[in-house]
Amino acid sequence: MTRLSPDERTELIGRFRRWMQEQRQPLTRQRDAIARIVLTGDEHLSVEAIVRRLREKGETVGTATVYRTLELLTRAGFVRAHEFGEGFRRFEPAMEGGDHEHLVCLRCGKVVEFTHEHLTRMLPVIADEHAFRPERHRVEIFGTCRECLRGELEQIGR
Ligand SMILES: [Zn+2]
Ligand SMILES: [Zn+2]
Repeated sequence: MTRLSPDERTELIGRFRRWMQEQRQPLTRQRDAIARIVLTGDEHLSVEAIVRRLREKGETVGTATVYRTLELLTRAGFVRAHEFGEGFRRFEPAMEGGDHEHLVCLRCGKVVEFTHEHLTRMLPVIADEHAFRPERHRVEIFGTCRECLRGELEQIGR
């Protein structure tokens, strides 16, 4: 999610609260807590991880409430949902213009973000070659992250 500044975080939370008001959706303490965790997070959180963080903050929120709130946040465009082929979804704040791709480690599940100028330029060219009108895309590279690779090398070296 290309690192949000504290100001941007506050702004995003503010926008979410205003949106809830406009939609006449009750902004319960639980919903607000869930939104704060996802919208200010630096990671791609699973529902399980969100529930864990809520518990750490002393909030008891049912998994169903977390799912419903995430559904709401995703539909409203505040949150981007990902399916990295792990059998569950992960969530991150949706940033305007903050388009980025992902490297997913199959060993430890770490997700690394990247943007690449050439890639960004090539995608519309590829679509054009197929007379295809592009709207959105996602690029995901699956493999082994730096730390896991280092771990493997240390194993071999032993
Ligand atoms: Zn991301
Ligand atoms: Zn890894």
